[in-house]
Amino acid sequence: MSYGTASGPATGGVGPAGGYDKPLPKITPLNKGFWDYARQHQLALQVCTKCGDIHFPPGPVCPKCLSDAQEWRPVSGRGRLESWVEFHRAYWPGFAALLPYRVCLVKLAEGPLLASTLVGETPEIGAPLQVVFDAVTDEVTLPKFRRAD
Ligand SMILES: [Zn+2]
Repeated sequence: MSYGTASGPATGGVGPAGGYDKPLPKITPLNKGFWDYARQHQLALQVCTKCGDIHFPPGPVCPKCLSDAQEWRPVSGRGRLESWVEFHRAYWPGFAALLPYRVCLVKLAEGPLLASTLVGETPEIGAPLQVVFDAVTDEVTLPKFRRAD
C-alpha cells in the first residue's frame, strides 16, 4: 500500500497582501504531470505503459515491474473516504482563519491512496468522494475532495 500527498496540507485562502499564504507543492519533473492536469481540473495518476500498474505518489520507475516507461493519465476523480483528521491548531499562520480544517485519506477508484483536503460536510468512513479543484495560484491548482453527488 502506498500513499502520497497531492495537495499538501493546504486549503484555499488569501493572505494579507493578496497572495496565497500557505505552503505550496514543489513542482519537479517527476510530479509536473500531476500539476499540469490539475490546472485543467483533471486528477491524473502515473501509469506504467509496460504492465499497466497505476500508482501514486509518482516514481522514476514502476513499483511493480521497475520499467521507466511511465506516463500521466487522467482518472475518474472518484474514491472513498478511508480516514480523516481535523486540525485545530494552525502550524502555519495562513491556516489560522480556516480552523478547524480537515485532511483526508482517499482510496481512489483506481487503487492508490491520496492525502488531500476534505471540504464540505464530513461524510462517514467509506462514503463516496469526488475531486474538486481550487486554483490557488497561476501555477498551482489543488485537488480537494468532497462527498460525491
Ligand atoms: Zn510496470
